[in-house]
Amino acid sequence: MTTRRNFIKTSAFASAALLVDKVNANEEFTSKEHKSEALKPIVLSTWNFGLKANEAAWEVLSKNGRALDAVEAGVKIPEGDPTERSVGYGGRPDRDGRVTLDACIMDENANIGSVACLEFIKHPISVARAVMEKTPHVMLVGDGALQFALSQGFPKENLLVDDSEKEWKEWMKTSNYKPIVNIENHDTIGMIALDANGNLSGACTTSGMAYKMHGRVGDSPIIGAGLYVDNEIGAATATGHGEEVIRIAGCHLVVELMRQGKSPKAACKEAVNRVVKLTANRKKNLKDIQVGFIALNKKGEYGSYCVQNGFNYAVYDAKGNNLINADSYMK
Ligand code: ASP
Repeated sequence: MTTRRNFIKTSAFASAALLVDKVNANEEFTSKEHKSEALKPIVLSTWNFGLKANEAAWEVLSKNGRALDAVEAGVKIPEGDPTERSVGYGGRPDRDGRVTLDACIMDENANIGSVACLEFIKHPISVARAVMEKTPHVMLVGDGALQFALSQGFPKENLLVDDSEKEWKEWMKTSNYKPIVNIENHDTIGMIALDANGNLSGACTTSGMAYKMHGRVGDSPIIGAGLYVDNEIGAATATGHGEEVIRIAGCHLVVELMRQGKSPKAACKEAVNRVVKLTANRKKNLKDIQVGFIALNKKGEYGSYCVQNGFNYAVYDAKGNNLINADSYMK
């Protein structure tokens, strides 16, 4: 199986690949360097599909645009890419062969919108934004979310691409649900940005764990779990096993730890330590779990931490668009 970590498209990602080679950055270097120069605007996003997503976000941020518009535009790139198997169109289906999407968005004024278990809509992040801006609610799920999306003019589309369908049929031969750490059968794009006016926003979108039970919802559409923004403090987003992120109310925790004075990286690390501790308490095997957080504070400092080695994230600021390997609990 092709893993996103190992797979860099030759044409579209050529410049990104060069950056990965050139930078091979480590976070201590980045956070130290960044601390002295704290720049804005800046955008961070999870995994290497974040490089392309950041470019779209930067288009907005570099023109003095709003962080909210930037994160929506950014995450729509992997959502619309049929070759990305873990987000939006082309995402892997649940065990019944249905592609169900989770997404949420949060702005600098604590406006929030979210959709969960949404089918047939290519850009769940934009539906989440419409929930935020056009309804008295903050979250719509399943058929209700679909009906709302259709009422807003979003087209109904088949999201299950041929290759995903083939893989799902292959999986059906064993029907063994076992998300594999750092193998591409899940992953989320979480994106957080600080705009030139000093405002923070975030977006998070995924097709969730491949071959999940129908109706399963992960952390990604849950404000406080997969994403949190506090415009006075900072923002955080998560990827990995959603059940573990929800268990610790992950991104809210990271932001609260920054409020207590921790650096973005130290806050992510403490949240990961909590995942590790609860995993041990529950007598589960840490080897089967991946959780990664990225965080950005109000000053433009950023950092990350994850359970298993292998998580990376993309940072675009005035110095360019770089992929950074996150530091991890398991080496
Ligand atoms: N957090 C996502 C979920 O649990 C998946 C991922 O990011 O790997 O649905």
